[in-house]
Amino acid sequence: MLAGYAVQVELSRGRRFPEPPHPYRNDYQRDRDRVIHARAFRRLVDKTQVFTRRYSDHFRNRLTHTIEVSQITRTVAAALALNVDLAEALALVHDLGHPPFGHAGEKALDSAMREHNLFFDHNLHALRIVEDFEQRYAAFRGLNLTFEVREGIIKHSRDYDPAKHPELAEYLLDHRPPLEAQLVDLTDEIGYSTADVDDGYEAHLLTLDQIREGVPVFERFFREVAQIYPDAPGKLQFNEALKRVFNRMAGDLITHTQARLKHAGIETLADVRLYKERLVAFSPEVEAERKQIKDFLYENLYYSPSLAGEKDDAERIVTELFAFWMNNPSALPHYYQEKAEQESLPRVVCDYIAGMTDHFIIEQYEKHCGD
Ligand code: MG
Repeated sequence: MLAGYAVQVELSRGRRFPEPPHPYRNDYQRDRDRVIHARAFRRLVDKTQVFTRRYSDHFRNRLTHTIEVSQITRTVAAALALNVDLAEALALVHDLGHPPFGHAGEKALDSAMREHNLFFDHNLHALRIVEDFEQRYAAFRGLNLTFEVREGIIKHSRDYDPAKHPELAEYLLDHRPPLEAQLVDLTDEIGYSTADVDDGYEAHLLTLDQIREGVPVFERFFREVAQIYPDAPGKLQFNEALKRVFNRMAGDLITHTQARLKHAGIETLADVRLYKERLVAFSPEVEAERKQIKDFLYENLYYSPSLAGEKDDAERIVTELFAFWMNNPSALPHYYQEKAEQESLPRVVCDYIAGMTDHFIIEQYEKHCGD
């Protein structure tokens, strides 16, 4: 049973190109499956989340991060009686527009575009992927996803100014996105903040003492765990404590959002869309803890000297390759040369680079910029 404020698939605004219904799957289940079968989705396996393969094959990459986020999202969506199929599709698609080399790659690509008075935004890029770049069907370009999935792709993590983005007018920019989309922004936070503590510890870039000192919520649970399992190996005590942090965040997201919906008198999807702010939220207490974890990770992991070298490499590779193709457009693959006849060259080069895996962009760099 869906809550009154959930998105109902029967009331979807539909696809750009109408298609007959599927005998076994509803439209959001189909959209979820179209994302899973997309080329851009498979490429997530070789895109850096935080750690490159140099560290270990069992750290998160963008694909396994995405699967973890979809797991959390399904649980939270079901507990809130939201549309789990839509929420799952949005979780699976949420990082589709990310360029190679994680945040460093994104920053470098954006800087290269700003030299041409343009910019790079991974949500808008994800929309271009599903609307245009994926070519699987004879009847239309792109994946022909439903309105609600396309809307969630751009609106889940930020608001776009309608005055600055007239091309997005169809996505109701002055309305809040449905709860299924709002959710993904915070399940993403739960996913990566706990996973990055985990991988950072495994990589020996974060020590147990450092985490206990810098993340008070972890320390509270760690003391509890050490009492229950005094003889367990340190790594398992660590796991048990981190699991409790994870469960606390997910549980709080459910109960606090429920309380907010009740307090605001939200009953329908229209109420959600027209409400003055987003309704999915952590309680102030857990929000403060979330911020502590994030600040801790910035200070001790994301900006750590151990990862600095790889970030510099990433920036150099993206920046130099961008300049190379700007100066040598005839070295672009034929498909992109044709695109450059309709669109500006920087945009086409940016699209090409953004779609690459870490492995492929390094190969291109060695081919075109190596000495
Ligand atoms: Mg993410």
